[in-house]
Amino acid sequence: MSPSTFRAAVLHEVGQPLVIERLTLKPLGPHDVLVQLRASGLCHTDLEVIQGQLVYPMPIVLGHEGAGLVEAVGAGVTLVRPGDHVVCSWNPSCGHCFYCDRDQPILCEVFTRTQPRGQLLDGASRLALDGRPVHHFSAVSSHAEYCVVHETSAVAVPREIPFDRACLLGCGVMTGVGAATRVARVAPGATAVVVGVGAVGLNAIQGARLSNADVIIAVDVDDRKLGLARAFGATHTVSAARDDAVARVRELTAGRGADYVFEAAGKVEGFRLAVEAARPRRDFPWLARAYLDGRLKLDELITRRLALAEINDGFAQMAKGDGVRAVILLDAEVRA
Ligand SMILES: [Zn+2]
Ligand SMILES: [Zn+2]
Repeated sequence: MSPSTFRAAVLHEVGQPLVIERLTLKPLGPHDVLVQLRASGLCHTDLEVIQGQLVYPMPIVLGHEGAGLVEAVGAGVTLVRPGDHVVCSWNPSCGHCFYCDRDQPILCEVFTRTQPRGQLLDGASRLALDGRPVHHFSAVSSHAEYCVVHETSAVAVPREIPFDRACLLGCGVMTGVGAATRVARVAPGATAVVVGVGAVGLNAIQGARLSNADVIIAVDVDDRKLGLARAFGATHTVSAARDDAVARVRELTAGRGADYVFEAAGKVEGFRLAVEAARPRRDFPWLARAYLDGRLKLDELITRRLALAEINDGFAQMAKGDGVRAVILLDAEVRA
């Protein structure tokens, strides 16, 4: 059953606060999945759209780290069923274009054409405000009570994983863990250095740990983040604020340097390859099971839980560099 209206955080103009609006839904297309969202992570990419470094058509609903329950599906959907617990992927793919056939779904021609236009894969929006279309962000738009995604974006995960932890798998965790496990393929016994230990860097550390690296050196200027890095599996930490980081790493590796260097400081562009190597339908369930088995840390990544109405404060805190991940909780009990 579709809601008649639902709340969403809408960006109307660059540099302006998000406004909580009541949106309406257009009918589901054949490959659409309606997700009742329960949690949505705030990611730096959202902030870049708010601040104007990334340009998207407005009005738009941001958010691309979402988890929730499948509420309804289009007539042609075969990948999920109502009631499934899903993590949204911001990389839907058509499955039959040149790049999809070459196993490079991140480059899916339909996705790369429609994504910058704020559309779903069929070139349209399902969201409306006062009868006017509202754009989707990266085919997800999870800072809302509901989202409509292509079925390749709705990845079923075990029911046991709580939604606020699950949503993190959708972007930051996949990117960091994927960089170590899927791209670098860190070898057992190796030495890895991770420069910059925010959400993506901490996940590169635990990716290196999952790959049985022997020595994992975390480098950052923030002592609190270096403390977290230890909890995520770093065997050594180097304060770039106090020490000559390069000299210290050389010392810790007996002059040989590291086998792998992951640089997550500032921007996450160094992790682009990890994004290309990610296969959400293969990797999200794997990561969810790793969490449930106690091999992957997610609890410690969440430094703040907030309501949808507090979203602007969440982004203000992120702009100051505070915290690792803030997650919006969308509680079904309090819905109007
Ligand atoms: Zn992200
Ligand atoms: Zn494609």
